[in-house]
Order: sequence, then C-alpha cells, then structure tokens
Amino acid sequence: MNKSYETIFENNKKWIEEKIGQDADFFSNLAKGQSPEYLYIGCSDSRVSAEEMMGLHPGELFVHRNIANVVNTLDMNSTAVIQYAVEHLKVKHIIVCGHYGCGGVKAAMNPEDLGLLNPWLRLIRDVYRIYQKELDAIECEHKRYDRLVELNVQEQCINIIKMACVQERYIVDDYPIVHGWVFDMKTGKLIDLDIDFEEILSDIQKVYDLTNSSWVMSRKKNKNLQND
Ligand SMILES: [Zn+2]
Repeated sequence: MNKSYETIFENNKKWIEEKIGQDADFFSNLAKGQSPEYLYIGCSDSRVSAEEMMGLHPGELFVHRNIANVVNTLDMNSTAVIQYAVEHLKVKHIIVCGHYGCGGVKAAMNPEDLGLLNPWLRLIRDVYRIYQKELDAIECEHKRYDRLVELNVQEQCINIIKMACVQERYIVDDYPIVHGWVFDMKTGKLIDLDIDFEEILSDIQKVYDLTNSSWVMSRKKNKNLQND
C-alpha cells in the first residue's frame, strides 16, 4: 500500500515545532478565535495557494474554493460562506481570484458534454455568452482564454455585489469592498483587474437593489445620527 500520505504527518510535526519555535503561544492564540479582514474566493486548482502567494498567515484569510471560482445564488456553499463572512466575521474585503490556465474555464470554452460537470460549467459558459461579441473578436485562442478568465472573475464579483447581505452591510459600514484579481502562475504575479465596486453597485442597484428593507434604513439613519 502506498503510504506517501504519511509524509504529511511528518511535515505536520515539523510545522508545529517551527511555529512553536517562533512563538510559544502560536497555537493557543490561534485557538482563541478568528477575525480575518479578507474573504478569498478562488479556484480549487492545486497550484494556486492562497495564503502563500498573498503572504498571509493562519487566521488572516477566510477561504472558499471551487472549480473556476464561481459564485452562484443557487449554490448554498458559496452563498453561506459569503453571508457568514460579511455578517459575522465582518470582513472588509472580498476577493475573487481567478488564474490563467484555469482548467474549469478551458473546459467551459469547449462546447462538449461533460456529464455531471455540465451545470457547473454552464455558469462559465453563461459568462462567455454575455461577452460573446468581445471574446469572438479575439483571434488568438490563448488571448481569448485569458480574457474569459478575467471576465469570469468580473462576473463573479458582480454576482457577489448582487447579494443582499453585501449591499446591506455596505450601506451601513462602507464595507465590504469586492475585488477581482487574477493569478498568473507563469510569473507568480497577482494582477488587480481594478473592478470598480462603487460603479458596479450603483449600476446593478437599478435592477438588484435589495437595500430598501426598513431595518437597513433604520440602521443607516442611526449611523448618520451617530456621525452628526
Ligand atoms: Zn482553475
């Protein structure tokens, strides 16, 4: 039987020693609780290591990962993560991070039947449909693929901004801000797509405004009174 996984337990022992060597209270502090400033939504791809590439430590990043970093209103998993991060952890920034060379985005670009994966890939194919004119105009297939990775990130940011919990908290606290990034694994660089959160929010509120509930308005009023 292949016991290569046992290396992981050896690694774990070394990691514990290393951490305690640097800070004797590391694990007792870790166990006290979390208040991360960032929610990271990224791809499950094994080559994209969120904390490592961002230089963050345990407790600093709340993480959700799935194939091609998709956020869909009918997916309880991602929406529960976002709602918890926004309402309870009160994260200040939500980052959707895609990556060039994404297998999920690549699969979505080929119109073939992939069985159980179809409903998931359809969410990315829908992004292609929205931007079909722009994408079809790109002759180079690699560039078209890279652009779909970026547009997919942008659309998932929009899906997050559509959520009531995000709009409601932003009105009251001026947070969270939603960011769209792409990781380029050929260079290791994180690229900021400069998503204009405020502009997208005001644009989509014409259709998706979910902030008229009386409790949001009364909280906003209270906040304004405190500031006066
Ligand atoms: Zn991927």
